[in-house]
Amino acid sequence: MKKILSLLTLFMALGFVTPAMSAETINTMIMTPDEKLQAEKIIMELHNHNNERIKQGYGPFVAAIYDKDGNLVAETSNTVIKDKCPLHHAEMNCIREACKKLGTYDLSNKGLKMYVTAEPCVMCAGGIMWSGIDTVYYSVNSKDVQKITGFDEGYKPLLWKVQFKKRGINMYGGIEEEAGKASLDTYVLEGNKVYKPERQDNK
Ligand SMILES: [Zn+2]
Repeated sequence: MKKILSLLTLFMALGFVTPAMSAETINTMIMTPDEKLQAEKIIMELHNHNNERIKQGYGPFVAAIYDKDGNLVAETSNTVIKDKCPLHHAEMNCIREACKKLGTYDLSNKGLKMYVTAEPCVMCAGGIMWSGIDTVYYSVNSKDVQKITGFDEGYKPLLWKVQFKKRGINMYGGIEEEAGKASLDTYVLEGNKVYKPERQDNK
């Protein structure tokens, strides 16, 4: 928290963040104790499901969407290799399935929350923004995903969470991340494919 505060002070000094925005951002970027417990419980379940599905040939990421009463709406894995489609990340699959189930393209104003085993990549962050989901809880941050696996998570601006907050979306990360890192370690150590376009810069 101290680090966040000093960073925000620096950005305020540079004119990137207004005092009102920073206060609001700090207040709403802290989970309540109940919310934290719930997020830890669900994310641990997703890590366990991830470990099972990696053995079945799925990509090493799982996402779930729950409604405001804590009921599961959708849970999906990454199916890039299975479906032969680079867009089929866990979060994108989950948004698609939730929309289908609820019969709408707009997931806003329903208190829907996404839980995911890793920080959304640049594509999924975009998908989440367009979906209308109001809160995202994730486990392993992108930097560690890249370090452990070599997957390219894409570029997100430094203050991307502030941009999400401005659109009514709260993002919380680092939940049960040791278990998440262990799943990713296993994926790599067992020789599973780290898929990416075979461009020159990826070699
Ligand atoms: Zn993604």
